[in-house]
Amino acid sequence: MKKILFIATGGTIASAKTENGLTPAITSEELLNAVPQVKNLCAVDTVQPYSLDSTNMCWKQWIHVAEIIRDNYAKYDGFVIAHGTDTMAYTACALSYLVQQSGKPIVLTGAQKSIYVQDTDARRNLYDAFVAAQDDNLAGVYIVFDGRVILGTRARKTRTKSMNAFSSIDYP
Ligand code: GLU
Repeated sequence: MKKILFIATGGTIASAKTENGLTPAITSEELLNAVPQVKNLCAVDTVQPYSLDSTNMCWKQWIHVAEIIRDNYAKYDGFVIAHGTDTMAYTACALSYLVQQSGKPIVLTGAQKSIYVQDTDARRNLYDAFVAAQDDNLAGVYIVFDGRVILGTRARKTRTKSMNAFSSIDYP
């Protein structure tokens, strides 16, 4: 069974109603427990460096996430990063250049609705991200979202409400 490191950073996927409104409050373990089928796919360890709205993900966080991948690179077969959708494409692009020539998949995903909402896209996106992260045919940085696997340097958020939030620009 492949070993995957799950890195949770916040975003709508991890949002819950709190006294301060809808805010990223769901832990990496809780996210994983909401998609129990993942346990049949791969062995997962989790870390949670942040619980941020992705509008607050900047270069410091990009470098920190790249360092987490670097420090754990030999121990895992792939990486899944849960991230808010607003700046996910920027983080994917930054990681594509910060992590040079990765032979392993580094997969970002998120959701338009919290994982605890009944008609959420979060469970499917998270499961699909783990499928991609343990796939021997994938290497490098991708966004997996709404059934698509998009190269990290080609992804753009093109829809704010629809489940198919991301497009691949000038690339299949
Ligand atoms: N602005 C929030 C973020 O990017 C909400 C958007 C989302 O996650 O879908 O984290």
